[in-house]
Amino acid sequence: MKQLKDARRLVIKVGTSTLTYETGRLNLRRVETLVRVLSDIKNSGREILLVTSAAIGVGAGLLGLPERPRDTAGKQAAAAVGQSELMNTYSRHFNEYGHVAGQVLITRDVIENATRKQNAVNTLTQLLAYGVVPVVNENDTVSTEELDYAFGENDTLAAIVAGLVGADALILLTDIDGLYTVDPRTDPAAEKIPVVTKIDDQLMAMTSGAGTRRGTGGMQTKLRAAKTAAAAGIPTVVMEGLDPKRLYDLLDGQPCGTLFEAE
Ligand code: GLU
Repeated sequence: MKQLKDARRLVIKVGTSTLTYETGRLNLRRVETLVRVLSDIKNSGREILLVTSAAIGVGAGLLGLPERPRDTAGKQAAAAVGQSELMNTYSRHFNEYGHVAGQVLITRDVIENATRKQNAVNTLTQLLAYGVVPVVNENDTVSTEELDYAFGENDTLAAIVAGLVGADALILLTDIDGLYTVDPRTDPAAEKIPVVTKIDDQLMAMTSGAGTRRGTGGMQTKLRAAKTAAAAGIPTVVMEGLDPKRLYDLLDGQPCGTLFEAE
């Protein structure tokens, strides 16, 4: 994990299942700890870009809906409510620790058009130059997974953002501490795979696409994201985000989760 020790520019993605309770409301203690740890990591001289999910989940919670809406309009409306709540929470906490957050909402069409992509790169780079923590999400209010121009999940978005800013590492925080031989939630014989040097079809076939009721991703989207990052020369770590303080161990070079090496 030496590459993590030396990594200066980090893209850290955190998922809905890590950020929220079963009720859909924000897990404030975890968000606070996460922002405190990220602020401290930033104080140590590294650059942080946070890719956050949970706009739809938090919006559904605030609207008192029993679960994530399934229809497009419902998701888009929930995201409008949830994204502002999310951003307000991140901004307040980053400010408390002397840092400034800046919201960046991206859709796939931005990435597919060379000029707009370059604009996004310029904005992200300028935010980093200003010392801001860019807080990135998909622009879910105009783009949801049913639409063919949508990312639909943030693992892929995080890998693309890592490529846009030439990150030194991509860290995907989730509710499972890495890649296991079988699903550890259902099979006690599951063993963790600490390092993956190549993401091939066999590895993809081993994993399930199922995320939690609140999240969308599951391990397959993480593998695909790691593959995208690896192709851009960026290593990825998939690790548990339930205790954000474990990021300190990772950046100290200790083994955490699963490391997917860059190509
Ligand atoms: N962009 C979605 C949201 O903020 C989440 C996508 C994902 O779960 O990866 O709700």
